[in-house]
Amino acid sequence: MKEPARILVVGGGYVGMYTALRLQRKLRRGEATVIVVDPEPYMTYQPFLPEAAAGSISPRHVVVPLRRTLDKCQVVIGEVKSVDHAKRTAAITTLASHEEGTGAVQIRYDELILAPGSVSRTLPVPGLADYGIGFKTVEEAIGLRNHVLEQMDIASSTRDPAVRDAALTFVFVGGGYAGVEALAELEDMARYAARYYHNLEPDDLKFVLVEATGRILPEVGEEMGAYALRELRGRNIDVRLDTRLDSCADRIAVLSDGSRFPTRTLVWTAGVKAHPVLAATDLPLNGRGRLKCTPTLGVDGVEHAWGAGDAAAVPDLTADDPETTVCAPNAQHAVRQAKVLAHNVLASLRGKPLKDYRHKYVGSVASLGLHKGVAHVYGRKLKGYPAWFMHRAYHLSRIPTFNRKARVLAEWTLTGLFKREIVSLGSLENPRAEFELAADTGRHPEAS
Ligand SMILES: Cc1cc2nc3c(=O)[nH]c(=O)nc-3n(C[C@H](O)[C@H](O)[C@H](O)COP(=O)(O)OP(=O)(O)OC[C@H]3O[C@@H](n4cnc5c(N)ncnc54)[C@H](O)[C@@H]3O)c2cc1C
Repeated sequence: MKEPARILVVGGGYVGMYTALRLQRKLRRGEATVIVVDPEPYMTYQPFLPEAAAGSISPRHVVVPLRRTLDKCQVVIGEVKSVDHAKRTAAITTLASHEEGTGAVQIRYDELILAPGSVSRTLPVPGLADYGIGFKTVEEAIGLRNHVLEQMDIASSTRDPAVRDAALTFVFVGGGYAGVEALAELEDMARYAARYYHNLEPDDLKFVLVEATGRILPEVGEEMGAYALRELRGRNIDVRLDTRLDSCADRIAVLSDGSRFPTRTLVWTAGVKAHPVLAATDLPLNGRGRLKCTPTLGVDGVEHAWGAGDAAAVPDLTADDPETTVCAPNAQHAVRQAKVLAHNVLASLRGKPLKDYRHKYVGSVASLGLHKGVAHVYGRKLKGYPAWFMHRAYHLSRIPTFNRKARVLAEWTLTGLFKREIVSLGSLENPRAEFELAADTGRHPEAS
């Protein structure tokens, strides 16, 4: 009897999780084993991160547990370090291999699906590596929420005006949807929270958005981007276009227009780049480090290797010049590519013809805080409450599994009925602090 094929999926994000989900539904018994490797036991629904930062959705509902969703796959919590496709092996480190100091283990496969996504694109700005924080993970989103509320606590309790000003100044770099939504949701939450501080006014908080080009939110088109800009400026957010961050050394954000902002919060959302693990494979990459793929999502010129999502350069067959245009790194493409990818991997196992990936980008929705938003989808332009509602409805329909949809909907309904949560749980980052204090104060009597 033929051995089941081994399909290795690197990354359990949009592409990895959706592809594995479809494969587990469509594979015949004994046809193949699907192994999904990801450092985290969950898939992150990134478009909900800004709402998680604002406290409108709890962190657990922004993620989808891989083990439960992919119950017919083998889920390995680990990190792929390198791939030797010529030998059909991948080197993986796991929590256990770290603890035991045994180094990477080799996993053998027959079909490889590479979907490790992207990482923040940083620049050699002085101080950025020391003080910056990204906005791609649930840890970053919740860490930032706690941090912002903690800065308000610091500002409220200090007598030093310089400390107070720096604590209340929040600088965001990058005016794409991640940066704008993160800033808008956090600003909305923080100004609301200010009413509960006896010595802070909403206008004491200073939010600055730094964008190197002349516009924000290119994803929603020029007109809606201009509306979002007016909306943010109308909320007293200092948006600086055609401006770059030159330095943030010593916790002072220095901008290319000469302005300086002492700050303890620097959020970097200036784009993404292909995941560095791709460079540790023997597969072809384009000039930007993304996997060179064909319209059928196979790796160019290589058999039994596939790629999609942020990590892959897939020709955009709907573009005027598909030879030179590749699909943008976004969830819209990632989800749809996953569908074609699963189809093609199955077709290739069964010796059937492959499909091309073809999807015309239909636009974007962005939330600008509670009940505020902007959208440009299927040619329709919406702003304010209708856009915000559409943003929620669209993402609710997209978040995977019925279970997750129900939880998010229930949570929105509850948060709509009650006041917003404004508590910082930053102390979660140091759960032993209380016990360490107790242990130290409870010294053995004979010790003194
Ligand atoms: C804040 C924010 C908001 C966004 N909003 C939108 C939006 O409104 N609309 C939209 O279209 N797009 C949006 N995006 C972009 C969208 O989330 C990405 O394009 C999409 O997640 C890409 O899917 P992917 O599968 O390629 O990567 P990911 O979903 O990032 O998945 C990659 C996975 O690979 C794993 N991984 C990484 N390294 C390794 C390794 N070495 N070994 C194994 N696994 C590894 C990661 O842990 C992760 O789970 C947003 C992104 C962010 C950050």
